[in-house]
Amino acid sequence: MNYEFKAQSKRLMELMIHSIYTNKEIFLRELISNASDATDKMYYESLTNQDLTFNKDDYVIEILPDKDKRTLTIRDHGIGMDQEDLVENLGTIAQSGSLDFKKKLEDQDEATDLIGQFGVGFYSAFLVADKVEVLTKKFGQDQAYLWTSSGVDGFTIDKAQKEDLGTSITLYLKENTEDENYDQFLETYKIQEMVARYSNYIRYPIQMEVTKS
Ligand code: ADP
Ligand code: MG
Repeated sequence: MNYEFKAQSKRLMELMIHSIYTNKEIFLRELISNASDATDKMYYESLTNQDLTFNKDDYVIEILPDKDKRTLTIRDHGIGMDQEDLVENLGTIAQSGSLDFKKKLEDQDEATDLIGQFGVGFYSAFLVADKVEVLTKKFGQDQAYLWTSSGVDGFTIDKAQKEDLGTSITLYLKENTEDENYDQFLETYKIQEMVARYSNYIRYPIQMEVTKS
């Protein structure tokens, strides 16, 4: 099914897609932070749900680069999203962390330099990707969904297959340009460096798939 983004979301996304001045590396911080939030929600769930035992170390956040496909996947075993969540949470920027940014965005014309300062969240994926897929299955539900977007034109949500709970976000990296090397985000050393710099405070294990080259 096809959906349109809310006007503010479109604006923010446009800034992300065309941003030149912003430190693009922050996308990973934002996606890992969302994975961590989603895992926190599983923890809260376990406090009131007797059937659920929560062992922090089982809730690994995985980073999976694929050099052949030029994709980078961030996978969590957090709370997941259903269809309604996907429309609400990924279709508008009314969310908590984005609110300050949204206010500032209304105040000024050139907001590119603000992007790095704020946690602008999920849409920062479009700093480095021209297509984003979110494959997700929510706790307590059987049906999984695939959310896909190639930018401001909108997004689709379709039923999908997924075994385990949680969310897998796949970034289809932009083509390299003279000024920007997107391939670097598939390199082990680069990912390690970014995680160490921006995601040091995350309370769950962060693991990376290392492929032999
Ligand atoms: P914020 O994290 O400040 O709320 P984001 O733009 O980063 O804003 O994310 C928007 C919303 O999308 C989140 O609040 C959450 O509801 C949902 N979301 C994003 N990533 C995930 C994820 N990995 N698992 C579950 N929900 C997610
Ligand atoms: Mg966030």
